[in-house]
Amino acid sequence: MPPPDAAPAANRPADPAGSGARSRLLGPGDPPPFELHHVTGRARALLVCDHASRAFPRALGRLGLPDEATWRHIAWDIGAAELTRALSRRLDAPAVLAGYSRLVVDCNRRLEDPSCFVTAGDGQRVPGNEGLDEAERHARAAACHEPYHKAIAARLHEFHVRGVVPALIAVHSFTPVLGRDARPWNVGVLWDHDPRIALPLLARLRAEPRLVVGDNQPYSGRHPADYTIDHHAESAGLPHVCLEVRQDELLTPAGIARWAEILGRALADILADGGLYRVYEARGTRAGGG
Ligand SMILES: [Zn+2]
Repeated sequence: MPPPDAAPAANRPADPAGSGARSRLLGPGDPPPFELHHVTGRARALLVCDHASRAFPRALGRLGLPDEATWRHIAWDIGAAELTRALSRRLDAPAVLAGYSRLVVDCNRRLEDPSCFVTAGDGQRVPGNEGLDEAERHARAAACHEPYHKAIAARLHEFHVRGVVPALIAVHSFTPVLGRDARPWNVGVLWDHDPRIALPLLARLRAEPRLVVGDNQPYSGRHPADYTIDHHAESAGLPHVCLEVRQDELLTPAGIARWAEILGRALADILADGGLYRVYEARGTRAGGG
C-alpha cells in the first residue's frame, strides 16, 4: 500500500523545470530516452542496459566528435543492447535499455558525479562536454537520465505491487584493451555485498570450457561511482548482478546468440531457485571503505 500522499505526488511533475528542460533538448526526430523490451516477460527479473545506445539528441550534434568516435566504447557498450534483448527473450524477463549515449549523460553515475559528463576518454576529447553549465547538465539529466531511471523504478514497482522481490541484472560490455592493459577475461561478474546471483554464476561460467571469467574484473562491483545497481537493487536488498562481456565477443549476431545462450543457461538455473526472491538481510554491512 503506498503512503497516502503517493498518488498526488505521482501525478505531479517531480520537477516542472526538468520537464521543460527535457522538451527543450529532445525534438520530434529524437529517439525516446529509454526502450522497454519484452514487457510481457514472466520471469521475476528485470534486465537493464545503461550504455545501450550511441544516439545523441539532435540539438547536441555529436558533441563535436567525429562519427568514428561515436562507434567506439567511449560512446556506448558495443553489443550490450543486442545481448540484453536476446537475454530478455531467453530468460522471459522484461528489459529497460537507455536511449542515449553515455557521453550525453552516463546513466550509471549519480548526477552529482563529475564523471556523469566526461570531457575525455580513450584518447578522445569530448568538446561538447567541456565547460557545461548547470542548466545544460540539468537539461540532459531531465531528458535522458531521469526518465530511464524512472522507467526502471516503475518496472520494479510493478513487481512489488504483485508481492514479488525481483532480481535486477545489469548488462555491460568492455574493451579488450584499456590503455596498455590487455584484458584477458571473456566475461566479468561484478558484485559487492550480495553474493546470491554472483557466486553461483561465477561457478557456472567457470565450468564452461575455454572461458576466462573475471570476478569483479575488469571492473569492481565495489566501485563507489556505480549507480544503477546500487540505487535500484542494493539499497533495496534486491538480488542482483552486473555482467560485463568483452565487446569483441559481441560483434556479430552469432556472437550475441552464443553469449545469450551461455549467460541465459547459467542465469536460468539460478533464477529458478524460488529462495532467491527475498530481500537480502545482510545488507548494510559494508566491509571496506570503497
Ligand atoms: Zn557499461
